[in-house]
Amino acid sequence: MCGIVAYIGKKEAYPIIIKGLKRLEYRGYDSAGVALFNEDLRVYKKKGKVNDLVSFVKGKNLEGHVGIGHTRWATHGEPNDINAHPHTSDDGRLTIIHNGIIENYATLKEALIKEGHTFTSDTDTEVLIHLIGTLQDKDNLKLEEAVRIALSQVVGAYAIVILDKDDPTKLVAARKASPLVLGIGQNEFFLASDATPLVGYTSQVVYLNDEEIAVVSNDGTFEIKTFDNEIQTPYVQRLNMNIEKLEKGDYEHFMLKEIYEQPNTIADCMRGRVNAAAGWLKMGGIEVQEERIFNAKRFIMAACGTSWHAALIGEYLFEELARIPVEVEYASELRYRNPIINKDDVVIALSQSGETADTMAALELAKEKGALIYGIVNSVGSSISRITDSGSYIHAGPEIGVASTKAFTGQVTALTLMAIYMGYKRGTIPKSYYHQLLEGLEKIPAKVKEALECDNQIKKLATKFINTNHTLYLGRGYNFPVALEGALKLKEISYIHAEGYPAAEMKHGPIALIDENMPVVVIATNKSAYEKIASNIQEVKARKGIVIAIVTKGDTEISKIADYTIEIPDTEEPFTPLLSVIPLQLLSYHIALARGCNVDQPRNLAKSVTVE
Ligand code: GLU
Repeated sequence: MCGIVAYIGKKEAYPIIIKGLKRLEYRGYDSAGVALFNEDLRVYKKKGKVNDLVSFVKGKNLEGHVGIGHTRWATHGEPNDINAHPHTSDDGRLTIIHNGIIENYATLKEALIKEGHTFTSDTDTEVLIHLIGTLQDKDNLKLEEAVRIALSQVVGAYAIVILDKDDPTKLVAARKASPLVLGIGQNEFFLASDATPLVGYTSQVVYLNDEEIAVVSNDGTFEIKTFDNEIQTPYVQRLNMNIEKLEKGDYEHFMLKEIYEQPNTIADCMRGRVNAAAGWLKMGGIEVQEERIFNAKRFIMAACGTSWHAALIGEYLFEELARIPVEVEYASELRYRNPIINKDDVVIALSQSGETADTMAALELAKEKGALIYGIVNSVGSSISRITDSGSYIHAGPEIGVASTKAFTGQVTALTLMAIYMGYKRGTIPKSYYHQLLEGLEKIPAKVKEALECDNQIKKLATKFINTNHTLYLGRGYNFPVALEGALKLKEISYIHAEGYPAAEMKHGPIALIDENMPVVVIATNKSAYEKIASNIQEVKARKGIVIAIVTKGDTEISKIADYTIEIPDTEEPFTPLLSVIPLQLLSYHIALARGCNVDQPRNLAKSVTVE
């Protein structure tokens, strides 16, 4: 988590850095800071959002053609002015911005204190810059060499950029397990946690690899070396991102914009992959590894948060349509137990950012054990997309609202395409059903648009639940993971306690919570379990719970028993999650808004979880 931005060149660094930090604010927003050099070094940092920093520096000297900036998601030390980045070395010569965790900081700190160092902050980051500074001074090393030696003593994850006020003609950057992108302009360079701060300045980018150090200079030259001192030939890629995608446009919040983008993002995920009229569906990522994938004994899906819910839907899809056994794992649990993963397993990682630390680690473990590793990610060029054997991008475009919406439906779309592709090719889907599914798929974007028409109804409904303390979400089959996702959305942005449950499990515990104050959101669109879910609603009503039911258009039975019904269009059952999640996203959005919560930047959260 946390966002870092750095600039060196001929332009004023401050506006570029601030604009970049605002774009990266989804990654962390408990404090922000900048260091700028022009004749001398100036460091400004402030608790709060990037805008608090902007107010704080008003009237101050902001000149400089080189600078570094940070927006923090605290791991070590509370969010305050002192712990905000940048941090400086003992003598104030070096300044660092850091994303990640230095795990052995306590041991390093103790040793440095014995050598006479004093620390002003509680962060792990300050320890690292003291260590680098000491090494640099001791042997009069070049900064990049001091960085290299220091990092060999460090355990943890980091993307760092360092500015040396005794040599402000260059910046030194390095990464291991945290993302870092280098933007190459005309005699200028940009460094950032993702490519969004570069948009509008350059489209030439290099995604640094783990254990690489980059030195960028204001004469327009740069060099990338490994931690073993081997010079690398950089792989320069073209960035394909436009500014509209990074701005809210006419929407009040990124989350709402992203909810409304879903008809397009789902269509983008299917573009070039499905053609119902011609009767084909292609998944390039599977095709290139078809033999191993089709002969896999088992799929393991590893993910965290919302992506884990998408993976659960994947389990239902793969098992039903492709008849391949699937296990869904929290990446953080998978990596720290002693899992049985074999060479004939396929491990699929789902991650919006493609940088989720636990998911990356789970993949590395699976790779070691010889499994084929496959990524379903949104961010092009991200770490997961680079270490996997194959994969599918979801093409949802940058997702900035911290609560994931369009990335979730993108992941579910990609999984749906994979399941149909494998099912058809492996002969577990009859031809006629295959064609029916393709036709159904192509109608999904328009149906999502139709589902969005419930927005006003939900806005009104939301006002009734402003003072709710607890909510239950129930669903069966494909809609069980959607219930989990609906509950997570509400928790994340409105801070209302919510739980998702398989509807039938309600009787095994949660039913005890139901009384006249308990809203129960029931996703009741299932064709195969309709009667069962109707009975579950009766059970809630018998205990005076307030039922909000998501039903299929034209439903008459459940509408009679539920207190409120929200209709979504009919579709083939495997596609239901793509529609049923829409009202739940809107419900959480409107409740959070009505409660006065910061929808795009909920407290304590950050989007791209690059720490364990
Ligand atoms: N560990 C560092 C800190 O707590 C950096 C955290 C981050 O990635 O924002 O300051």
